Amino acid sequence: SKKFRLAVIPGDGIGKEVVREGLRVLDFFEQNSGGKYSFESDFFPWGCEYYLEHGKMMDEDGVDKLRDYDAIYFGAVGFPGVPDHVSLWGLRIAICQGLDQWANIRPVEFLPGVPRRLNHPEADKLNWVLIRENSEGEYSGVGGRNFTGRGPGKEVAVQSSLFTEHGCERIIRYAFDLARTRKRKKVTSVTKSNAQQFGMVLWDEVFEHVSKEYPDVETDQWLVDAMAAQFVLRPEELEVVVASNLFADILSDLGSALSGSLGIAASANLNPERRTPSMFESVHGSAPDIAGKGIANPIGTIGSAALMLDHLGLQEEAEQLNQAIRETTRQGYLTRDLGGTHNTEEITDAIIDNLGKIQANQDTKEK
Ligand code: NAD
Ligand code: MN
Repeated sequence: SKKFRLAVIPGDGIGKEVVREGLRVLDFFEQNSGGKYSFESDFFPWGCEYYLEHGKMMDEDGVDKLRDYDAIYFGAVGFPGVPDHVSLWGLRIAICQGLDQWANIRPVEFLPGVPRRLNHPEADKLNWVLIRENSEGEYSGVGGRNFTGRGPGKEVAVQSSLFTEHGCERIIRYAFDLARTRKRKKVTSVTKSNAQQFGMVLWDEVFEHVSKEYPDVETDQWLVDAMAAQFVLRPEELEVVVASNLFADILSDLGSALSGSLGIAASANLNPERRTPSMFESVHGSAPDIAGKGIANPIGTIGSAALMLDHLGLQEEAEQLNQAIRETTRQGYLTRDLGGTHNTEEITDAIIDNLGKIQANQDTKEK
């Protein structure tokens, strides 16, 4: 029997509420695996409450404590009372950069039964994957604040983006390799290289150079402002979209809103070389406006568990879980962000119920 060791970091706000649901789904898989595998979860209480008590978002050697796990399951960070840049840099970015999880994979799925914000005849057929550079770019952390003289009105702040040829090349290559496994085989690259003439021109050059090695993959290059419009106007043109840390962050919120809600978007922070554990989390944040009410949509975090199962080598389970999520929304189990009335637990109950049926069906087919 294989034992998967998971580091679980629920974090803040609805992060705690949705991670709990994801773990219920993993429990279901374990109980029905016939002893084939189990999950052993260690909980880390890191986040804003931890910060208010200890003056830091996680332990000093926090990143090292995570190194030996098979995967990290993450909720969300950020809560009023702790500045957002402190909570983000102190936990999520510290882990992503500390463990070199340089590829952030963000599928945008147009689930059945979900009211579309995107008015498009082919909306049901759309299926995008955003590939976010996750180690440098606009989130390099390079910069500073300084006074240029005494008195008010004299401060300047510099926030630098950092692009390395190595960093651009590995994420662009990742996008091309992924595109090869998909139906249309198309990669769209997004920059703002007309205004940002150093880093993003380097990105464009690397993109052109790498694309020559993939003559079977169709390519497209866009400026980010025009891309935002393209998401709405010509969504059928998109398949794999690769962009810098900030731009892909913004476009993934746009993509998830177009597909229904921020609450359904899943993501994987991967170290593709598998030297360090990868981290699985929803795209949304801690949503203080609805925290504690039990109404958060758990699908983004449960979908992230599907990405984690796939990463752990449990492809069949991952596929079953994605199917169960689709079945659940198709049946009309929707939280308020999708115009429904179901609460967090009811969605998970329905997903687990559907999983049971899917597994029973497969058992009868196999017999
Ligand atoms: P947010 O994603 O938390 O919320 C944006 C809006 O979407 C809110 O109205 C919220 O209620 C709604 N929403 C988000 N997830 C939902 C869900 N699962 N179900 C139903 N509705 C959902 O973004 P924000 O309000 O900009 O940020 C809140 C905090 O989260 C801040 O502290 C921010 O820094 C942090 N944040 C953390 C992460 C992360 O941990 N990866 C990501 C984004 C924001
Ligand atoms: Mn974001």
